[in-house]
Amino acid sequence: MSSESTSGPRLREALKGIPAYKPGKPAQGADGAPAFKLSSNENPYPPLPGVLEAATSAAASFNRYPDMACAALIAELAQRFGVPASHVATGTGSVGVAQSLLQATSGPGDEVIFAWRSFEAYPIITQISGATSVRVPLKADETHDLDAMLAAITPRTRLIFVCNPNNPTGAVVHREQLERFLDAVPSDVLVVLDEAYNEFVRDADVPNGVEVYRDRPNVCVLRTFSKAYGLAGLRVGFCIAHEPVAEALRQTAVPFGVSQLAQDAAIASLRSEEALLERVAALVAERERVVSALVAQGWTVATTQANFVWLRLGERTTDFAAACEAAGVVVRPFAGEGARITIGETEANDLFLQTAEVFRKTL
Ligand code: PMP
Repeated sequence: MSSESTSGPRLREALKGIPAYKPGKPAQGADGAPAFKLSSNENPYPPLPGVLEAATSAAASFNRYPDMACAALIAELAQRFGVPASHVATGTGSVGVAQSLLQATSGPGDEVIFAWRSFEAYPIITQISGATSVRVPLKADETHDLDAMLAAITPRTRLIFVCNPNNPTGAVVHREQLERFLDAVPSDVLVVLDEAYNEFVRDADVPNGVEVYRDRPNVCVLRTFSKAYGLAGLRVGFCIAHEPVAEALRQTAVPFGVSQLAQDAAIASLRSEEALLERVAALVAERERVVSALVAQGWTVATTQANFVWLRLGERTTDFAAACEAAGVVVRPFAGEGARITIGETEANDLFLQTAEVFRKTL
């Protein structure tokens, strides 16, 4: 046997050095004590009774494959957003849909542009596709540098992510800026407006991608049931795109990638939207309370329109996360840069604020 045959199957070179996706740590404080999990931008509210009921009835058919076309969910989404059903494609979380968008557009030699720091899955799924990540640093105010992103476009650019609001900074791109940017992007480059946190936006100058995409065949919108709709564990997301892109998503999606449980619960959520949006409003009110309290404590807090706040702590980031954990709050540190703290239940937010106040005095 040659040494090659004993070294196992040959894996793609593109996978070498791929950054690991670091999920938010589970809710466990120092010494395994229970803690609040404010590390994954989840919704702190449990599922509504109607959603649980839909999920429970779906369980009776677990021996069957789900509807691969997600027809009922897509029809419901099309109606909700006022778009043709042929413009809606679903997937295994919006990250699954984003991965399909890359498979549909990009491969070795191609380039994918996104702001940095932004959603950590972008460089991972780009590298998996074989394409090259082009990271454009955020501006000092934590917003996308759209001019620099335009300047980064080359004949190899195939896809651009615009994360609005941006994870992890919460900063937004405004309507006029976005329209100017889209006017300048070549029409053969797909622009993905990742709006995972759209429902938490209260700034009227932030565009709704569903309005923006209509006259622009190279623009699509990514949305998810994981955040405002509180179904992170069920893995269902969707894209609104013109037909060729939506069709490409259907071609590249993992077959049966959205379980019947997820489809039925998502439909039930859309039908309970009023109650869910009340919860979103309560979280937005909590966000404003947390931001004001942090400012009063002396922190510089970037303007956020999402269900989290971002503290640029630089070298103190890891210490800060450890202090939070010791107090029973798990946050999401990005070592050397800053910490992202999800807005959770009032008690969790209070505990975080108490910790932040004590830590602030050590800076
Ligand atoms: N986009 C952004 C900006 C996100 O922050 C996330 C989740 N952290 C996602 C997409 C993916 O969400 P999901 O796969 O749960 O729909």
